[in-house]
Amino acid sequence: MIRIQNYIGGRFCDAVDGSTLHLIDPATAEIVGTFPDSAQKEVEAAIGSAEDACAHWSASGPEYRSAWLYKLANAIEASLEAFAQAESSDSGKPLSVARTVDIPRAVANFRFFAGAILHDQSEAYVDRPSVLNYTLRQPLGVVGCISPWNLPLYLFSWKVAPALASGNCVVGKPSEVTPLTAFLLAKACADIGFPAGVLNIVHGTGPKAGAAIVAHPKVKAISFTGGTATGKIIAQVASESLKKVSLELGGKNPTIIFEDADLEAAATETIKAAFSNQGQICLCGSRILIQASVYDQIKSKLIDKARALTVGDPQDSSTDLGAIVSKAHFDKVLHHMEIAEKEGGQILTGGKKVSVSGRCKNGYFLAPTLIEGLPPTCSTNQDEIFGPVATLIPFETEKEAIEMANGTRYGLSASVWTKDLNRAHRVSSALSSGIVWVNCWMHRDLRTPFGGVKESGVGREGGLYALRFFTEAKNVCIKTS
Ligand code: NAD
Repeated sequence: MIRIQNYIGGRFCDAVDGSTLHLIDPATAEIVGTFPDSAQKEVEAAIGSAEDACAHWSASGPEYRSAWLYKLANAIEASLEAFAQAESSDSGKPLSVARTVDIPRAVANFRFFAGAILHDQSEAYVDRPSVLNYTLRQPLGVVGCISPWNLPLYLFSWKVAPALASGNCVVGKPSEVTPLTAFLLAKACADIGFPAGVLNIVHGTGPKAGAAIVAHPKVKAISFTGGTATGKIIAQVASESLKKVSLELGGKNPTIIFEDADLEAAATETIKAAFSNQGQICLCGSRILIQASVYDQIKSKLIDKARALTVGDPQDSSTDLGAIVSKAHFDKVLHHMEIAEKEGGQILTGGKKVSVSGRCKNGYFLAPTLIEGLPPTCSTNQDEIFGPVATLIPFETEKEAIEMANGTRYGLSASVWTKDLNRAHRVSSALSSGIVWVNCWMHRDLRTPFGGVKESGVGREGGLYALRFFTEAKNVCIKTS
């Protein structure tokens, strides 16, 4: 049994009253460990430790902080296999994905911001020879980083790394559904002697531990990734103390395939966009809009490719789709499949649980599911399902495609498939979303702005955007006589 502990002030500890929650492997439905059910007291202790550590960490130069982040990246990389095993058993994702995507990206996040902080610049404005304005970018102090379960270490480190690089001390709370790799991160910190109190990790539920971080007056900013409903609560609570907030929320992203696209490439990537990580990526393309003239062609390619995917034991190297992250989420996705049928959708493939034999016989597995025949405005095409479920919707004209693509409350990302460069620019500009990929999906450059519009969020992460979020700009105006 794994015993996860909080990491506060450089020390490992349990919840003050000893209460714990269960760690469950979704591929087997077995309890594999426990973690602290933290609340106000543990959060207070973590904030106190972060405050104590701040004076030194903030005042130390970027080279010092950069060197520590590189050391931490190296430590994760040195234990990549252990991290990958933990991420896979905690979340149900294929081990091959944790090995090649999740953990390498966490390493890259620390390295990227370790490098970025060395190259950060600020502005100077020379009014006349005697007047100089310049911008100081100072760390905020103690900041909160709250992350979801779908890409556990990948998204946790995406927040923690820029917060630390820019001189803040962090109280982090990973998702209670997948706390294991954040615990391994804490162990890596302890192993390399990372300065105590600079990074504190508190485990527990959102309404208890998470809410205590958000409400605390000494926490100057909250970087949050998770559901839109939670994001709204956080924005409301954070407004009481006028904290800065960065909110990366849900999506209902369109993949738009025009008749002039490379149809084979479009179909291959569309399947990846719909079903990677069991469809549990905020960027997944869950609404597939297809120009009517190529609808049947694309539809049959998508069905063939979805049926060729293997759902199975996350440990098995031939597995494409592992387990759904939890029983609660599995039930939610199944419920959405039922709603889709009630709304008149025809299931083209999937639409049901998958039984995996052996050690995974009790696990939470779902078949990749494609549905057609639903109007763009029905709940299946409006609500974020966050599972291996995508709908096919025909369109006639570019205008109609844009209207449908923009016709939800979300606006995170979109993929556009066309060989027409003019159309690519035109459609990209007209889409209400924070990210547009043309002839690709989820091609990431860590320098680019990352975030959504409408109910997909507020603010941008990535590169300088994250470093700006975690600092306060101060203008200094000097007049010489
Ligand atoms: P969630 O909102 O339930 O939980 C996210 C985190 O918030 C968890 O750590 C949780 O404990 C915490 N939390 C919950 N209630 C809280 C509260 N009242 N105060 C403070 N913290 C609280 O989301 P989830 O189910 O873990 O993740 C899935 C969602 O995340 C999906 O909607 C998905 O689209 C979204 N997501 C968005 C992005 C993005 O970059 N936009 C990336 C990944 C996931």
